[in-house]
Amino acid sequence: MSDAPETATDDSDATADLFDKIVNLCKRRGFVFPSAEIYGGFRSTYDYGPVGVNMLRNVKDAWWRSMVQMRTDVVGLDAAILSPPQVWEASGHFANFTDPLVDCRNCGARHRLDKLDDPDVCPTCDAKGQFTEPRQFNLMFKTHAGPVEDAGAVAYLRPETAQGMFTNFVNVLNTSRKKPPFGIAQVGKSFRNEITPQNFVFRTREFEQMEMEYFVPPDEADAWYRYWCDERLAWYVEHGIPAEMLRLRPHDADELSHYSSGTSDVEFLFPWGWDELEGIANRGAYDLTQHAAHSGEKLDYFDQATNTRYTPHVIEPAAGATRTMMAFLMAAYAEEEVRGEQRTVLRLHHRIAPFQIAVLPLSKKDTLVPPAQAVLAQLQPHFMCDYDETQAIGRRYRRQDELGTPYCVTIDFESLEDQAVTVRERDSMEQERVAIADLLGWFRERLD
Ligand code: ATP
Repeated sequence: MSDAPETATDDSDATADLFDKIVNLCKRRGFVFPSAEIYGGFRSTYDYGPVGVNMLRNVKDAWWRSMVQMRTDVVGLDAAILSPPQVWEASGHFANFTDPLVDCRNCGARHRLDKLDDPDVCPTCDAKGQFTEPRQFNLMFKTHAGPVEDAGAVAYLRPETAQGMFTNFVNVLNTSRKKPPFGIAQVGKSFRNEITPQNFVFRTREFEQMEMEYFVPPDEADAWYRYWCDERLAWYVEHGIPAEMLRLRPHDADELSHYSSGTSDVEFLFPWGWDELEGIANRGAYDLTQHAAHSGEKLDYFDQATNTRYTPHVIEPAAGATRTMMAFLMAAYAEEEVRGEQRTVLRLHHRIAPFQIAVLPLSKKDTLVPPAQAVLAQLQPHFMCDYDETQAIGRRYRRQDELGTPYCVTIDFESLEDQAVTVRERDSMEQERVAIADLLGWFRERLD
């Protein structure tokens, strides 16, 4: 565990300021918009704009690349979001997926008791000792499948992607030629009727998760748990978050679910302090045992080599894609002075940045646009490119800095003579002349 302070800095104005600046940048540059904004917004739901949708996709792709593409022991899945009550009965979500809810008798505000700084004081109106007794509030969204709203039609929006991996365990085992240790990975939307959504996209009622269930022989569970804690922490560092802004926090015994023999959170130093990005849990045989008991199906594995049958144990790294995107933005945000001018820059890893390259003709003149578009056509099949011919070149560079684009390619009048372009690197702002014929290879070396 790290010794870093509990909050990002003692200067709470500065941290609140950073948070506001990022929310503002997200709106101004098209990363994230409040949902249904023209109707006044809709209860802390958010839409990902033209720039944000690229970035969120990149976060998910980077996870998929590490967890599925680069491995031979993990396969993917995309399970349904709507699911029948039996799944949630078996998983324990009906009984346990609750948060303690209190109402303030003074102002009527509702709060999640376990997230209050002082469990006796209402943060909305400051009244002391006015809370009702806590009630356990189930976070699942209930709906009806089909035209009749009777009990038989009740369905739930999944509050996590994990159960799809357990209910498909045998399907995947029978079709993928994998045997324990092996994993099933999934990325997709989850829904929780959070009592107090907060901190922008950190906690929302609709969000995206990146989860993997890793099925192992029981006697290997502890070793794989430690392996996945290390792997997952390293993933964030590899993708550009400074190690000092991350820590692995093992849960105390009283935080563990009854079936878990170990859980650690990957935490990030948000402007309000350390908070969770991902949980890695050693879940034992709980999930497969529960679904086997409720469905009557055999959810175990017969190991021919040892002639034994066992229920695999599960190690689960469960991350939030939208929450992780926010952490990437916060870690990458910097303001600096360059030649007497202020610039804002997102130092995003090239695989996470919304665009890898911006193609910019120096002017809108007829002579420069066709060669600029030819360069764009050369790069577009391989990289996500932005194209911008508006405004002065300096302002366009600043805009790309704010989007986190690692490279800008400028086509100028000299390009017509020497068949070369200027490539500007975001962080150093250094410029290099590169022959158009070599451009694709030049980028392939740097943007792999
Ligand atoms: P919390 O204690 O913050 O409510 P949790 O421990 O219940 O979260 P998990 O069930 O472990 O969260 O979910 C795995 C990951 O999914 C979390 O680490 C987080 O990144 C993401 N996540 C969970 N709930 C939300 C939410 N309401 N909004 C955005 N991301 C979420």
